[in-house]
This record gives sequence, C-alpha cells and structure tokens, in this order.
Amino acid sequence: MSAATRVLVLNSGSSSVKYRLLDMADGRPLAGGLVERIGEEGSRLVHNPQRGEPREQRRSFPDHAAALKAVGEELQADGQGLDSPELAAVAHRVVHGGTRFTEPTLVTEEVLAEIRALTPLAPLHNPANITGIEVARALRPDLPQVAVFDTAFHATLPPAAATYAVDRATADRYGVRRYGFHGTSHQYVSRRTAALLGRDPAEVNVIVLHLGNGASASAVAGGVCVETSMGLTPLEGLVMGTRSGDVDPAVVFHLHRVGGLSMDAVDDLLNRRSGMVGLCGDNDMREVERRRGEGDPDARLAFEVYIHRLRKYIGAYCAVLGRVDALAFTAGVGEHSAGVRAAATAGLEGLGIAVDEALNGLPSGGPRLVSPAHSRVAVAVVPTDEEFEIARQAFALVRRTAG
Ligand code: ADP
Repeated sequence: MSAATRVLVLNSGSSSVKYRLLDMADGRPLAGGLVERIGEEGSRLVHNPQRGEPREQRRSFPDHAAALKAVGEELQADGQGLDSPELAAVAHRVVHGGTRFTEPTLVTEEVLAEIRALTPLAPLHNPANITGIEVARALRPDLPQVAVFDTAFHATLPPAAATYAVDRATADRYGVRRYGFHGTSHQYVSRRTAALLGRDPAEVNVIVLHLGNGASASAVAGGVCVETSMGLTPLEGLVMGTRSGDVDPAVVFHLHRVGGLSMDAVDDLLNRRSGMVGLCGDNDMREVERRRGEGDPDARLAFEVYIHRLRKYIGAYCAVLGRVDALAFTAGVGEHSAGVRAAATAGLEGLGIAVDEALNGLPSGGPRLVSPAHSRVAVAVVPTDEEFEIARQAFALVRRTAG
C-alpha cells in the first residue's frame, strides 16, 4: 500500500474553483482557497496556507486551466505541490449523478462521457465539474481522480419518495424523478450528529436541516436517506436565499400564459429572484433579521414564510421517520442563526422537540447540543464539512482499489 494520504478536493463552478488539501491520515486540512471570477474582469485567487497569512493574487485567470495551475503553484510554495508523491487522489464534487452514479467513482473516459450525458439535468453545474476534472487530469494523468456526487446520498430514497405522481412513461423518458442535492453535507452531518450523541449512525434517526444560501432538509433513518426536500433540481423544497422552493407548478403556466413570461424568464425568476431576495430584497439572513428587528414589514413576512415552510418540513419528516432521535441544523443560517433555530422549533414540545434558550444563544463553534438535557429529541448544531466528506469518500475508494 502506498503511503500517500493526501487528497486535493476541487469544487469547480462555472466561474470559480474552491479547493482544499487534506491529509486523510488524520483528516487535517493542510491548505485551501478559492479562485473566483475565472474568465471575467477582476479574477483573483485567495490561498489559505496551514500556517501564516492568506495570500492573494489579483490577476487574470482566463480559464480553469490557468486557475488550477496557479493553485498548484500556491500549493508548491507551501511544499505541497501537485507533483507531491504524498498526493493520493484528486476528488471532485460533481453535482448531478442521475440514477447512474450512487457511489464515489474513479474517473475514466467512459465515466466522463456518462457525467457529460447527465448535463441536461444540471446544465450549469456538470459542465463546470467536468472541466475541473479534465484540467486536473491533464496536470497529473497518473493520479486517481475521484468523482463524488451531490445526489448520491439520496439514491436510497424509496420509490414512494423519489417518484413524482406524473405520467410514468413521460417521467421515465425524461428522467423526471426526485434526485435530491447537498448529499455530502446531509451524509456528513447525520453521521457527525450520531457521533455527538455517542451512538452508531445505524441506530439513529436524524432530520438534517441544511440552511445556507441554498437550503434543503433530509430524513435519515439509521444512516440511510429516506426523504429529502430537493427534487429533480435544487429548486424544490424549502424557501432559500434566491430560490422559491415549493410552488404550485401551475404558477409557471400562469406566468407564461397570462404574464407572457418566457420559460427562461420564469426559470430566472424562481431560481434567482425569488426566496428571501424576492420577498424582501435581501438574501442574507443576517440582514433580514436585522430589518425584521427594526419592524420592517417585508423582512418580517419573508422571515415568517421561511420559518413556516421549515416547520412544515420538520413536521412532515417526523411523520416520515416515525421516531426522531435528533434534529441537526447546519450551513450558514443553521449554524449561526439562533433566531431561526428558535423560531423553527418553537412550540414543538408535543413532538419532543425543544431548544434551551441559553445553549441556543451561545456563539457557534464545533458540533454541540442546544436542546435541554433529557429532551426526547436532541437538537444539534453541527457545522457541515463537505470537503472533508468528499475527501473521506475518495480516499476510502482509492484505498479499496489499491488494496
Ligand atoms: P452557501 O449555500 O452559499 O454555501 P453558506 O452555507 O455559507 O452558503 O450560507 C450562507 C448564508 O448564511 C448567508 O447568505 C447568510 O444568509 C447566512 N448567515 C451567515 N452567517 C449568519 C449569521 N450570523 N446569522 C444569520 N445568517 C447567517
């Protein structure tokens, strides 16, 4: 077995690359950073070494190849270049794995072609993910490249949860079903919550609320995901920063037929100009809460709509799971907003759910419980770590393959 234990995780977006280098001998992050505005004016790289101050390069990164080359140089300057024999794999976040990819997968030409074939399901994301893989492969052709899919953790949804009640033949023909997203986060947080309770993930039922700019809920029974709020695309479910979440699908026909909006315009409306930004003009929950505190009626309504939807999902997932052991809040809003956690759980004592005001009000740090002692349902705040989870899965695959 090779002694290489480091994994470089790449999350390639259409105009950005986020990266983190981890040593999976102990899970320690060694470096990380971000290249943003690739191919645009004002592109820059910010590198966070393990020790010392962040370093910034403000210059033109015309494409992903230039960006990744610069990332390699920054890592090299720390003595951790892409040519390092300690590097075991490059792990790539890939948004959509369809029904084809339900596990972390070693990238081959065939796998790349299959990921490309899934592009109609994720037209903005999969092409950028593929570019990241191709560029990393060109830099280190000898190194395993592993794709870790955002949809994979939800592959276990039972047919009753994954199937939309639409004509079967049409749905099958176009791949119309519920896939779910944020899978690595739901997987990581559900396992970490079990660890926080000192229990085996196979024994506990957890509702995970991933509340970031994008937001999703999942119901995880004994480590297996049985329901999630996002569907064919990340538009379904909770109210998000800029996405509407659930709406009557007839809203689309109505806007098209009566409002004369094109399909692209409705897509843009529901994905980028709805949610909190559509309701009150701000998608940052800090700002919404500040304005609400000042009595701003738009911010108040936006907050109420957000919380109402969240509570509906909590109730629904209690019914889906039957027995709930823990409710875990994660991502930007879930980790930091005591107000959202308090409002989302207020008056749910009948379901065994309550938060302790003092514990809930403490500033966020590591994973922690915010429910009163002896609560039937543990309420936890668990910072998500998608990069770690991606590296963990990729490293386990590389080890199995090598062994
Ligand atoms: P993304 O979904 O883009 O990965 P994050 O999980 O980092 O985002 O969440 C970003 C969001 O978290 C911000 O838009 C903001 O609404 C929210 N947020 C961050 N800090 C706080 C805070 N202290 N209080 C309330 N909301 C916060």
